Amino acid sequence: MKKETRILHAGSHPERFHGAVNPPVYHVSTVLHPSVAAMETSGKTPFEGMRYGRFGTPTTFALEEAVAELEGGHRSVATSSGLAGITGALMAFLKAGDHLLMVDTAYFPTRKFCDDVLSGLGVETTYYDPLIGGGITALMRPNTKVVFTESPGSLTFEVQDVPAIAMAAHAGGAIVMMDNTWGALTFQPFAKGVDISIQAATKYIVGHADAMLGVITAATPDLWLKVKSSVAAFGHSPGAEEMYLGLRGLRTLPVRLRQHAATALRLARWLEGRPEVDRVLYPPLESDPGHDLWKRDFSGACGLFGVILKPAPKAAVDAMLDGFDHFKLGFSWGGFESLVIPTTGHSIIRTASDWAPAGPSLRFHAGLEDADDLQDDLERGLERLGRGG
Ligand SMILES: *Cc1c(COP(=O)(O)O)cnc(C)c1O
Repeated sequence: MKKETRILHAGSHPERFHGAVNPPVYHVSTVLHPSVAAMETSGKTPFEGMRYGRFGTPTTFALEEAVAELEGGHRSVATSSGLAGITGALMAFLKAGDHLLMVDTAYFPTRKFCDDVLSGLGVETTYYDPLIGGGITALMRPNTKVVFTESPGSLTFEVQDVPAIAMAAHAGGAIVMMDNTWGALTFQPFAKGVDISIQAATKYIVGHADAMLGVITAATPDLWLKVKSSVAAFGHSPGAEEMYLGLRGLRTLPVRLRQHAATALRLARWLEGRPEVDRVLYPPLESDPGHDLWKRDFSGACGLFGVILKPAPKAAVDAMLDGFDHFKLGFSWGGFESLVIPTTGHSIIRTASDWAPAGPSLRFHAGLEDADDLQDDLERGLERLGRGG
């Protein structure tokens, strides 16, 4: 059975809920136990079944089961945001004296966590070039515990050779983590050597810009228990409604993603041919430097891509962005709506790789609006850019 079919029903157990197709939203803190003996028994396996709201409810378990199916891993742990998933996974495996290899193109708040929090806890981070591949062996140290990947890279979209990195990391005794938010459904992390995959479910899984949610998935029972124990120790407890929205969004993920990707490819190709544009950063484009790796490792794409304009004054770029009808200015992505952000300047920090765009850079999310309408919006935007603001 195809994954697209399996995730329609993954984690749902109508027989437990009077036949209801979707699991109910459990609003729970206290769980009542029938006897002291039952309380003691549940304490022996605190993460199985209902013990206390913070450890999980049937809504949690349904979401976690469904995302594990999506990712192709052993089992998942839900968190209150994508960033909480990333920090929760890192904290489960790093302690004072350990070394972390972090991809230079990581989501910026991930980088900030390494610099501001992990450093204070005695964990040393080395950033590495996203295109390093098997060359990461040279950066491995005896105390390197985690190699963290994100592919394509945040804002600049470099595709990583995850299987080569994973092989080198494992040879050096480290585990491999991946922020797989862009590759939801289309990149199978565990088949490519990843041990822990994190989804910012806020993006495509929720898919409607109305909830914050993260999910960590582990390759094996041992890794899962480490993640779950650590996340539980920190007291993370994602909201019941949010988990339900994640589960609901997941059911339509394949059909939404196909549309997002088709529209993005059409817009990316069109933008590539425009005189105002220097480069389009979207691995499905044949012209993209990461295209071959993307084709080898991904079964599809999503609606998120970057654009580097030819040199232009800031006022002209601002006029282009301010005047869009459909591409709204806002952070996040993966919802039904088209979005754009300027990425020039301090929002892109690179210390281990080169980033020298010819002109201003932007990030677009192609939403579910009609592609003709979106292209017209871009065309009018490029006219504003040409008029100079
Ligand atoms: C948005 C994002 C996150 C963080 O997710 P939140 O739910 O906003 O905390 C992590 N990684 C990537 C690649 C993202 O785009």
